[in-house]
Amino acid sequence: MEEKTPTMPCVVFLKYLKITGEGVDSQGKFAYATYVEVEAARCPCCGSNMLYAHGYYHRNASAIGRDGARKRLRIRMKRYKCRCCGKCFSPSCNRIGIGKWQRRNARLNDMLSRECANGVSNKAIGQKYRISTSTVERQLHRNHEALLREQLQHSCPQVLRIDEHSIHRGRTKGHKFAVTLADLRHHRIYEVFEGKSSAALESNLRKLKGREKVKVVCMDLSSPFRNLIQRLFPHAKIVADRFHVIRLIIDTFHEFCKAADPAIKWKRGITCALRTKGANLRPAQRQLLEKEFARHPAIQAAYEFKEELCSLLSIKERKRANCIPLLEKLKEMVWQMLHEALEIFKKLGRTIRQWFEPIIRMWRFTKSNGITEGFHRKMKLIQRRAYGYRNFQNYRLRVLMECGHILV
Ligand SMILES: [Zn+2]
Repeated sequence: MEEKTPTMPCVVFLKYLKITGEGVDSQGKFAYATYVEVEAARCPCCGSNMLYAHGYYHRNASAIGRDGARKRLRIRMKRYKCRCCGKCFSPSCNRIGIGKWQRRNARLNDMLSRECANGVSNKAIGQKYRISTSTVERQLHRNHEALLREQLQHSCPQVLRIDEHSIHRGRTKGHKFAVTLADLRHHRIYEVFEGKSSAALESNLRKLKGREKVKVVCMDLSSPFRNLIQRLFPHAKIVADRFHVIRLIIDTFHEFCKAADPAIKWKRGITCALRTKGANLRPAQRQLLEKEFARHPAIQAAYEFKEELCSLLSIKERKRANCIPLLEKLKEMVWQMLHEALEIFKKLGRTIRQWFEPIIRMWRFTKSNGITEGFHRKMKLIQRRAYGYRNFQNYRLRVLMECGHILV
């Protein structure tokens, strides 16, 4: 019996695409493929099916297949000519996820977004998939603009945190500022605005949908936006940000210590122990503090006061009735600061008095701010990776992609 000649393996790589062979060019290996037409082609001009073959051509593309393998493809495409109107055309490759003029399939384009969301730089993505960095950037914009538009259709989150941070603009370009709105309920960044002037922020905030439904706005004590927020979010209660309140107290205390004992700034061990929460001190640190307190009783008194104030303000998730004794305690401590303490503490006392209501709301508040501090770290990383952003829109896209959860 005559032996059959082995034929080329006919692997289906994508649906409607058959791999028929392999070739090599200057860039390495590629696969020959044919496009399987499931239904008879029709003329895009007159709709007629009276067609005849007008030759073949090859189309180059990169694609990720059903098995996750990445291949460079040379797809053999048929060209038709219409008998009725004379139009020449080839069937579109939309079925295999390659759009008009495109050289990558949809699965590969999605993969670019995923790589970017994992923090890989454009350059590294470009090298891995053999495309230029500008193509990566263009494709990312294309992938995410539609998703972003959809995300911004949703109304504003009900528990919002407003914060500002600086953006590094690259070498010799300095810094500029951005304001972030974080959704504390779903742990994501909702929007990033350019600039920190009140006028710019007001015009941006006015565009938000569902402003009147916002229930809680969380912000730090130094924020100049307080009046603006009260005006633009009429039904929202302003809550102070615990992280910033505690940090302000510790900084004030530290300034007092430096004034009381100028040599303290050279003693890193003591400085560190003074900043640490009492319950977290190591035995060695405790001994250091005791020695310091023996030398400077004023520091001991201030330290005890600081510990008491910090533990009072760290309380959370209390019911309204349970807050009344805490309120009395805080009032008394503020009075002490204003009338019995040095100027440094008087300043702190005045700040707490100005922000009294937002601060006492912290006891009732349950949401953690740690997550947004994590986002700030992530944003700094985004800036570091790109060596600064000159174009704010590119930066915004990156932040929303990595911290806005639009891929999910
Ligand atoms: Zn036609």
